Amino acid sequence: MSRIRRVAVIGAGPSGLYAADELAQADNVCVDVLERLPSPYGLVRYGVAPDHLKTKSAVNVLKRVLERPNVRFLGNVHVGRDLTIDELDRFYDAVVLANGASTDRRLEVCGEDLHGSFSATDFVSWYSGHPESDIGRFALNATSAVVIGHGNVAVDVTRILAMSPDELRHTDMPNHVLDVLDRSSIEDIHLVGRRGPVHARFTPKELTELGDLANADVIVHGEDLKLDKAGEDAISSNRNLRRNYEFLHACGARVPQGRPRRIHIRFYRSPTEIVGASVVEGVKFERTELNDAGMALASGETELVSAQLVLRSVGYRGVPISGIPFDQARGVIPNTAGRILNRGVVLDGKYVAGWIKRGPSGVIGTNKADAVETVEKVIEDLPTLSPAPDPNPDGITGTLQGRGVSVVTWSGWQQIDAGEIALGESMGRSRTKIHHTADMLELSGRAVAEEGK
Ligand SMILES: Cc1cc2nc3c(=O)[nH]c(=O)nc-3n(C[C@H](O)[C@H](O)[C@H](O)COP(=O)(O)OP(=O)(O)OC[C@H]3O[C@@H](n4cnc5c(N)ncnc54)[C@H](O)[C@@H]3O)c2cc1C
Repeated sequence: MSRIRRVAVIGAGPSGLYAADELAQADNVCVDVLERLPSPYGLVRYGVAPDHLKTKSAVNVLKRVLERPNVRFLGNVHVGRDLTIDELDRFYDAVVLANGASTDRRLEVCGEDLHGSFSATDFVSWYSGHPESDIGRFALNATSAVVIGHGNVAVDVTRILAMSPDELRHTDMPNHVLDVLDRSSIEDIHLVGRRGPVHARFTPKELTELGDLANADVIVHGEDLKLDKAGEDAISSNRNLRRNYEFLHACGARVPQGRPRRIHIRFYRSPTEIVGASVVEGVKFERTELNDAGMALASGETELVSAQLVLRSVGYRGVPISGIPFDQARGVIPNTAGRILNRGVVLDGKYVAGWIKRGPSGVIGTNKADAVETVEKVIEDLPTLSPAPDPNPDGITGTLQGRGVSVVTWSGWQQIDAGEIALGESMGRSRTKIHHTADMLELSGRAVAEEGK
């Protein structure tokens, strides 16, 4: 009988769990999913907007992977800090990196680090109750906010800024977030991008939702909607672009209803400076014009939008893990169809999947095909890879315990999950996120105690 092959997957987001699922269906393979947070599901839990309940229900599918008998969840284990990549080689025949793209791209303009200027990543982590986000990071005592970027994340943060806590109470948002939203003094939100309405990366579902908000009028200026020939061709041949354009056009034609908040969607404006002495006072934009290739060129005409809060939403990028090659320019791990490359040469037994493999693009489901491609390579290579010297499953957990790492097991996570439901129910909500790692570990510790009985 052939021996059991042990594979570590780093990261319990969609790509890690899709990879674990594929691996677990191969003969004689056992998978450990090592996750730096006490909770699984990556950005499905800490990125997808809390009010998008249907999208969030992806956890019900991902959960089944962690229930497989040959898949083990090892939460609260930060690879690169609690264990090095080299150390993993002792316990596993192969390692799949699926650690996502957890940091943001910068605008590289003056004033980016002024007080009141944040990345959208920061804001998303805060309202999602990410344990590494500071509870007091956002006060929302600004009256005017600028959101820079025209993708779905920019739309998410705009929508959350515009919503009332009552519209969000059915979600799992932590209570301290709802309290801040309740006290928010935001009146105007400027959602600004440097190109035109047919170049924005919003999807129609996300964009048109802005029109359904009880608390906010959407304001679009006709001058921003003018199309050149290429733009007209684009909307006549692409249904999504046409739906976006029709929505924007309808907003432009509508008389504002006098709602307490206003969302101004602005095009053809490139930020050149975030202005302020020590705190944000506004954003300077240069008007742009598109050349024949659709590139935004500066027109020389500038304008200042007054604001006390800036959220920069110009993309996510990966973070390197020591011992694994990293492409600094693209913010990804270099690879060929999932096999990690070191200066162009395949690194034995090391693979990559998801956002850290291809960059931050696509929806949750995109990570499935991506993970399948990677796992095909793992399965192909496993017979020729050197076997792990210490294949005993207790080897890694013993090492982590010896280092004082409180590993959260699957039953530990189930205790946290039950704790969040109980906390929500105690306040008339279906579920409320627990923010602090210490509180999650305390809940998960009950499972460890039970397991030890
Ligand atoms: C704000 C936002 C909203 C989104 N909304 C939607 C949406 O509505 N619909 C949709 O389909 N898609 C949405 N997406 C995209 C979707 O979330 C991604 O496609 C998907 O999460 C990427 O999966 P991943 O596993 O590669 O990365 P992630 O989901 O980021 O998972 C990576 C995991 O690795 C862990 N990790 C990182 N470093 C380490 C380490 N050193 N050791 C151990 N573990 C580590 C992280 O904690 C994380 O759990 C959204 C993304 C964002 C950012």
